[in-house]
Amino acid sequence: MSCNSGLDLFVDDSASPPAVGLIGIARMAASASTLQTKRRVEYLEIEARRFIGRCSSPRMPFAWTINPYRGCEFGCRYCYARYTHEFMELRDPELFETRIFAKRFSPEAFRSDLARVRPAESICIGTATDPYQPAERRYRITRKILDVLAAGSGRKAGITTKSDLIVRDIDLLQRIAQANSIHVNITVTTVDERLARLLEPLAPRPALRLDAVRALTDAGIRCTVLAHPVMPLINDSDEALDALAAAAARAGAVSLSAAPLFLKPCSKPVFFAFLDAHFPAFAARYRQRYEHQAYLRGAYPEMLRQRVEKLIARYGFLPRGVAELAEEWPSGPQLKLFADNERA
Ligand code: SF4
Repeated sequence: MSCNSGLDLFVDDSASPPAVGLIGIARMAASASTLQTKRRVEYLEIEARRFIGRCSSPRMPFAWTINPYRGCEFGCRYCYARYTHEFMELRDPELFETRIFAKRFSPEAFRSDLARVRPAESICIGTATDPYQPAERRYRITRKILDVLAAGSGRKAGITTKSDLIVRDIDLLQRIAQANSIHVNITVTTVDERLARLLEPLAPRPALRLDAVRALTDAGIRCTVLAHPVMPLINDSDEALDALAAAAARAGAVSLSAAPLFLKPCSKPVFFAFLDAHFPAFAARYRQRYEHQAYLRGAYPEMLRQRVEKLIARYGFLPRGVAELAEEWPSGPQLKLFADNERA
Protein backbone atom coordinates (compact mmCIF):
# COMPACT_ATOMS: atom_id res chain seq x y z
CA MET A 1 0.00 0.00 0.00
CA SER A 2 1.30 3.45 -0.79
CA CYS A 3 1.06 5.70 2.23
CA ASN A 4 -0.11 8.52 -0.02
CA SER A 5 -2.66 6.64 -2.07
CA GLY A 6 -6.05 8.19 -2.50
CA LEU A 7 -5.18 11.37 -0.63
CA ASP A 8 -5.82 14.83 -1.97
CA LEU A 9 -2.84 17.14 -1.90
CA PHE A 10 -2.60 20.87 -2.19
CA VAL A 11 0.29 23.21 -1.77
CA ASP A 12 0.14 26.03 0.74
CA ASP A 13 3.27 28.07 1.20
CA SER A 14 1.80 30.52 3.65
CA ALA A 15 3.71 31.18 6.84
CA SER A 16 2.12 30.67 10.24
CA PRO A 17 1.38 33.70 12.45
CA PRO A 18 4.29 35.04 14.55
CA ALA A 19 5.08 32.87 17.58
CA VAL A 20 4.64 35.29 20.46
CA GLY A 21 6.16 34.21 23.80
CA LEU A 22 7.83 31.05 22.51
CA ILE A 23 11.57 30.44 22.40
CA GLY A 24 14.01 28.10 20.67
CA ILE A 25 12.65 25.12 18.81
CA ALA A 26 9.08 25.91 19.92
CA ARG A 27 9.32 29.32 18.26
CA MET A 28 10.81 27.81 15.10
CA ALA A 29 8.01 25.23 14.99
CA ALA A 30 5.31 27.83 15.48
CA SER A 31 6.80 29.92 12.66
CA ALA A 32 7.26 26.99 10.26
CA SER A 33 5.82 27.28 6.77
CA THR A 34 3.27 24.74 5.64
CA LEU A 35 4.69 22.71 2.76
CA GLN A 36 1.70 20.54 1.99
CA THR A 37 -1.30 19.06 3.66
CA LYS A 38 -3.25 15.92 2.97
CA ARG A 39 -6.46 14.82 4.54
CA ARG A 40 -4.91 13.75 7.80
CA VAL A 41 -1.39 15.12 7.85
CA GLU A 42 0.13 18.56 7.57
CA TYR A 43 3.76 18.91 6.45
CA LEU A 44 5.78 21.92 7.48
CA GLU A 45 9.33 23.01 6.84
CA ILE A 46 11.46 23.86 9.82
CA GLU A 47 14.88 25.44 10.14
CA ALA A 48 17.43 23.17 11.86
CA ARG A 49 20.19 24.83 13.81
CA ARG A 50 22.21 21.65 13.46
CA PHE A 51 21.45 18.60 11.37
CA ILE A 52 23.66 16.25 13.34
CA GLY A 53 23.13 16.06 17.09
CA ARG A 54 25.33 14.54 19.74
CA CYS A 55 23.82 11.46 21.37
CA SER A 56 23.40 12.21 25.05
CA SER A 57 22.95 8.59 26.20
CA PRO A 58 26.08 6.53 26.92
CA ARG A 59 23.95 3.36 26.55
CA MET A 60 23.52 3.92 22.84
CA PRO A 61 25.90 2.33 20.32
CA PHE A 62 26.39 5.59 18.38
CA ALA A 63 27.82 9.00 19.14
CA TRP A 64 25.82 11.20 16.76
CA THR A 65 22.23 11.23 15.58
CA ILE A 66 20.42 12.49 12.51
CA ASN A 67 16.65 12.81 12.30
CA PRO A 68 15.52 14.46 9.08
CA TYR A 69 11.91 14.77 10.30
CA ARG A 70 10.13 15.78 13.47
CA GLY A 71 7.02 13.71 14.04
CA CYS A 72 6.22 10.41 12.34
CA GLU A 73 3.16 9.46 10.40
CA PHE A 74 3.49 5.72 11.03
CA GLY A 75 1.75 6.24 14.35
CA CYS A 76 3.05 3.25 16.30
CA ARG A 77 0.99 2.91 19.45
CA TYR A 78 4.08 2.46 21.62
CA CYS A 79 6.18 5.23 20.09
CA TYR A 80 8.21 7.02 22.73
CA ALA A 81 9.46 9.75 20.43
CA ARG A 82 6.23 11.70 20.91
CA TYR A 83 8.06 13.74 23.54
CA THR A 84 10.04 15.43 20.76
CA HIS A 85 6.89 17.33 19.77
CA GLU A 86 6.58 18.54 23.34
CA PHE A 87 9.79 20.54 22.84
CA MET A 88 7.76 22.51 20.30
CA GLU A 89 4.91 23.02 22.77
CA LEU A 90 2.80 20.54 20.78
CA ARG A 91 1.47 18.48 23.66
CA ASP A 92 -1.40 16.59 22.06
CA PRO A 93 0.24 13.19 21.31
CA GLU A 94 -1.81 12.86 18.12
CA LEU A 95 -0.01 15.88 16.64
CA PHE A 96 3.17 13.80 16.52
CA GLU A 97 1.50 11.75 13.77
CA THR A 98 -0.34 14.53 11.97
CA ARG A 99 1.98 17.54 12.04
CA ILE A 100 5.23 16.50 10.40
CA PHE A 101 8.17 18.88 10.22
CA ALA A 102 10.71 18.41 7.44
CA LYS A 103 14.06 19.96 8.30
CA ARG A 104 15.35 22.40 5.70
CA PHE A 105 18.39 20.75 4.16
CA SER A 106 21.46 22.39 2.73
CA PRO A 107 24.35 20.17 1.61
CA GLU A 108 26.90 22.87 2.57
CA ALA A 109 25.54 23.25 6.11
CA PHE A 110 25.35 19.47 6.44
CA ARG A 111 28.96 19.06 5.30
CA SER A 112 30.14 21.59 7.86
CA ASP A 113 28.14 19.78 10.55
CA LEU A 114 29.72 16.51 9.44
CA ALA A 115 33.17 18.02 9.88
CA ARG A 116 32.52 18.00 13.67
CA VAL A 117 32.21 14.20 13.65
CA ARG A 118 35.49 12.32 14.02
CA PRO A 119 35.75 9.31 11.66
CA ALA A 120 35.86 6.83 14.56
CA GLU A 121 32.54 8.12 15.87
CA SER A 122 29.40 6.47 14.57
CA ILE A 123 26.38 8.32 13.25
CA CYS A 124 22.89 6.86 13.29
CA ILE A 125 20.11 8.15 11.06
CA GLY A 126 16.61 7.67 12.46
CA THR A 127 17.14 7.51 16.21
CA ALA A 128 13.95 9.40 17.12
CA THR A 129 11.73 9.40 14.05
CA ASP A 130 11.64 7.27 10.94
CA PRO A 131 13.85 8.63 8.14
CA TYR A 132 11.79 6.73 5.53
CA GLN A 133 8.32 7.73 6.68
CA PRO A 134 5.89 8.92 3.95
CA ALA A 135 7.29 12.48 4.04
CA GLU A 136 10.55 11.10 2.63
CA ARG A 137 8.80 10.22 -0.64
CA ARG A 138 8.13 13.92 -1.10
CA TYR A 139 11.15 15.68 0.41
CA ARG A 140 13.92 13.11 -0.05
CA ILE A 141 15.96 14.60 2.79
CA THR A 142 17.34 11.22 3.87
CA ARG A 143 18.44 10.61 0.31
CA LYS A 144 20.18 14.00 0.21
CA ILE A 145 22.04 13.10 3.42
CA LEU A 146 23.13 9.77 1.96
CA ASP A 147 24.28 11.57 -1.15
CA VAL A 148 26.69 13.66 0.94
CA LEU A 149 27.89 10.62 2.87
CA ALA A 150 28.48 8.74 -0.39
CA ALA A 151 30.93 11.41 -1.47
CA GLY A 152 33.08 10.88 1.64
CA SER A 153 35.05 8.01 3.15
CA GLY A 154 36.06 6.40 6.41
CA ARG A 155 32.80 7.00 8.28
CA LYS A 156 30.68 4.66 10.38
CA ALA A 157 26.98 5.12 9.78
CA GLY A 158 23.76 3.30 10.58
CA ILE A 159 20.14 3.73 9.59
CA THR A 160 17.10 2.57 11.54
CA THR A 161 13.74 2.33 9.83
CA LYS A 162 10.46 0.48 9.62
CA SER A 163 10.00 1.25 5.96
CA ASP A 164 10.76 -0.63 2.77
CA LEU A 165 11.22 2.75 1.09
CA ILE A 166 14.89 2.34 2.02
CA VAL A 167 15.36 0.03 -0.99
CA ARG A 168 14.94 3.12 -3.18
CA ASP A 169 18.37 4.21 -1.91
CA ILE A 170 20.26 0.96 -2.42
CA ASP A 171 22.39 2.65 -5.08
CA LEU A 172 23.61 5.25 -2.57
CA LEU A 173 24.01 2.72 0.22
CA GLN A 174 26.26 0.66 -2.02
CA ARG A 175 28.31 3.73 -2.87
CA ILE A 176 28.63 4.57 0.81
CA ALA A 177 29.66 0.99 1.58
CA GLN A 178 32.56 1.20 -0.87
CA ALA A 179 34.49 3.57 1.37
CA ASN A 180 32.61 3.64 4.68
CA SER A 181 30.96 1.24 7.09
CA ILE A 182 27.18 1.27 6.78
CA HIS A 183 24.67 -0.87 8.66
CA VAL A 184 20.88 -0.94 8.39
CA ASN A 185 18.47 -1.81 11.19
CA ILE A 186 14.97 -2.76 10.11
CA THR A 187 12.42 -2.87 12.91
CA VAL A 188 9.98 -5.77 12.84
CA THR A 189 8.04 -6.35 16.05
CA THR A 190 5.91 -9.23 14.79
CA VAL A 191 5.29 -11.27 11.66
CA ASP A 192 1.59 -11.33 12.49
CA GLU A 193 0.16 -8.89 9.95
CA ARG A 194 -3.04 -8.28 11.94
CA LEU A 195 -1.17 -7.47 15.10
CA ALA A 196 1.26 -5.24 13.20
CA ARG A 197 -1.65 -3.29 11.72
CA LEU A 198 -2.96 -2.61 15.22
CA LEU A 199 0.41 -1.73 16.70
CA GLU A 200 1.88 0.20 13.78
CA PRO A 201 -1.15 1.35 11.83
CA LEU A 202 0.54 3.17 8.94
CA ALA A 203 3.91 1.47 8.79
CA PRO A 204 4.65 -0.91 5.90
CA ARG A 205 3.57 -4.50 6.51
CA PRO A 206 6.14 -6.79 8.19
CA ALA A 207 6.46 -8.85 4.99
CA LEU A 208 7.48 -5.73 3.07
CA ARG A 209 10.07 -4.84 5.71
CA LEU A 210 11.50 -8.36 5.50
CA ASP A 211 11.56 -8.08 1.71
CA ALA A 212 13.61 -4.92 2.23
CA VAL A 213 16.05 -6.89 4.41
CA ARG A 214 16.40 -9.40 1.59
CA ALA A 215 16.91 -6.71 -1.06
CA LEU A 216 19.52 -4.89 1.04
CA THR A 217 21.32 -8.12 1.91
CA ASP A 218 21.39 -9.15 -1.74
CA ALA A 219 22.91 -5.75 -2.51
CA GLY A 220 25.68 -6.36 0.03
CA ILE A 221 24.30 -4.14 2.82
CA ARG A 222 24.31 -5.76 6.25
CA CYS A 223 21.03 -5.68 8.13
CA THR A 224 19.92 -6.29 11.68
CA VAL A 225 16.30 -6.96 12.52
CA LEU A 226 15.22 -5.05 15.60
CA ALA A 227 12.35 -6.59 17.54
CA HIS A 228 11.82 -3.38 19.47
CA PRO A 229 9.73 -3.21 21.51
CA VAL A 230 8.80 -6.56 22.95
CA MET A 231 5.52 -6.21 24.85
CA PRO A 232 4.62 -8.73 27.55
CA LEU A 233 1.76 -11.04 26.53
CA ILE A 234 1.44 -9.33 23.14
CA ASN A 235 4.45 -10.26 21.01
CA ASP A 236 6.78 -12.00 23.46
CA SER A 237 5.83 -15.67 23.29
CA ASP A 238 8.47 -18.20 22.33
CA GLU A 239 6.45 -18.96 19.19
CA ALA A 240 6.10 -15.32 18.18
CA LEU A 241 9.77 -14.52 18.71
CA ASP A 242 10.87 -17.72 16.99
CA ALA A 243 8.71 -16.95 13.96
CA LEU A 244 10.23 -13.48 13.78
CA ALA A 245 13.80 -14.77 14.16
CA ALA A 246 13.21 -17.44 11.49
CA ALA A 247 11.82 -14.84 9.08
CA ALA A 248 14.76 -12.51 9.77
CA ALA A 249 17.23 -15.33 9.12
CA ARG A 250 15.45 -16.30 5.88
CA ALA A 251 15.64 -12.69 4.74
CA GLY A 252 19.40 -12.66 5.34
CA ALA A 253 19.66 -10.49 8.46
CA VAL A 254 23.05 -10.85 10.13
CA SER A 255 21.74 -10.15 13.62
CA LEU A 256 18.64 -9.85 15.74
CA SER A 257 18.03 -7.62 18.71
CA ALA A 258 15.06 -7.31 21.05
CA ALA A 259 14.26 -4.97 23.92
CA PRO A 260 11.29 -4.67 26.25
CA LEU A 261 8.72 -1.92 25.91
CA PHE A 262 9.85 1.49 27.10
CA LEU A 263 7.04 3.94 27.84
CA LYS A 264 7.78 7.60 28.39
CA PRO A 265 5.01 9.65 30.01
CA CYS A 266 4.04 11.10 26.61
CA SER A 267 3.45 7.62 25.15
CA LYS A 268 1.38 6.22 28.01
CA PRO A 269 -2.00 7.76 27.09
CA VAL A 270 -1.75 6.46 23.52
CA PHE A 271 -0.51 3.01 24.50
CA PHE A 272 -2.97 2.55 27.35
CA ALA A 273 -5.86 3.57 25.10
CA PHE A 274 -4.62 0.98 22.60
CA LEU A 275 -4.63 -1.68 25.33
CA ASP A 276 -8.14 -0.71 26.46
CA ALA A 277 -9.37 -1.11 22.89
CA HIS A 278 -7.54 -4.27 21.85
CA PHE A 279 -6.12 -6.02 24.92
CA PRO A 280 -8.42 -4.99 27.78
CA ALA A 281 -7.50 -8.08 29.80
CA PHE A 282 -3.89 -6.84 30.11
CA ALA A 283 -4.56 -3.15 30.58
CA ALA A 284 -4.59 -3.09 34.38
CA ARG A 285 -1.36 -5.08 34.63
CA TYR A 286 0.42 -2.78 32.20
CA ARG A 287 -0.84 0.31 34.03
CA GLN A 288 0.37 -1.09 37.32
CA ARG A 289 3.84 -1.97 35.96
CA TYR A 290 4.41 1.24 34.02
CA GLU A 291 2.56 3.72 36.17
CA HIS A 292 5.65 5.11 37.92
CA GLN A 293 8.41 4.06 35.55
CA ALA A 294 9.30 3.95 31.88
CA TYR A 295 11.23 0.65 31.97
CA LEU A 296 10.09 -2.77 33.09
CA ARG A 297 12.05 -3.92 36.10
CA GLY A 298 12.28 -7.29 37.76
CA ALA A 299 12.79 -10.64 36.09
CA TYR A 300 11.23 -9.80 32.74
CA PRO A 301 14.18 -8.10 30.98
CA GLU A 302 16.46 -10.97 31.96
CA MET A 303 13.92 -13.56 30.78
CA LEU A 304 13.68 -11.81 27.46
CA ARG A 305 17.45 -11.57 27.13
CA GLN A 306 17.77 -15.33 27.63
CA ARG A 307 14.98 -16.04 25.16
CA VAL A 308 16.66 -13.89 22.52
CA GLU A 309 20.10 -15.40 23.18
CA LYS A 310 18.68 -18.83 22.42
CA LEU A 311 17.28 -17.53 19.15
CA ILE A 312 20.58 -15.93 18.23
CA ALA A 313 22.30 -19.28 18.76
CA ARG A 314 19.54 -21.24 16.97
CA TYR A 315 19.62 -19.11 13.84
CA GLY A 316 23.34 -18.27 13.82
CA PHE A 317 23.00 -14.52 14.16
CA LEU A 318 26.04 -12.41 15.03
CA PRO A 319 25.93 -10.55 18.33
CA ARG A 320 24.95 -6.91 17.91
CA GLY A 321 28.02 -4.74 17.82
CA VAL A 322 30.01 -7.40 15.97
CA ALA A 323 27.46 -7.26 13.17
CA GLU A 324 27.98 -3.55 12.82
CA LEU A 325 31.76 -3.63 12.58
CA ALA A 326 33.30 -2.31 9.42
CA GLU A 327 33.76 -4.75 6.62
CA GLU A 328 37.15 -6.43 6.49
CA TRP A 329 38.06 -4.83 3.19
CA PRO A 330 36.95 -1.20 3.02
CA SER A 331 37.40 -0.43 -0.62
CA GLY A 332 37.67 3.37 -0.85
CA PRO A 333 41.19 4.47 -1.81
CA GLN A 334 42.37 0.97 -2.77
CA LEU A 335 39.53 0.46 -5.20
CA LYS A 336 40.13 3.88 -6.67
CA LEU A 337 43.85 3.19 -7.12
CA PHE A 338 43.08 -0.19 -8.60
CA ALA A 339 40.59 1.36 -10.99
CA ASP A 340 43.13 4.08 -11.90
CA ASN A 341 45.79 1.43 -12.55
CA GLU A 342 43.43 -0.48 -14.75
CA ARG A 343 42.74 2.60 -16.81
CA ALA A 344 46.48 3.39 -17.11
S1 SF4 B 1 8.18 4.38 13.12
FE1 SF4 B 1 9.36 4.90 14.95
S2 SF4 B 1 9.20 7.13 15.10
FE2 SF4 B 1 7.60 6.46 13.71
S3 SF4 B 1 5.80 6.25 14.98
FE3 SF4 B 1 6.77 4.23 14.84
S4 SF4 B 1 8.12 4.11 16.63
FE4 SF4 B 1 7.57 6.28 16.35
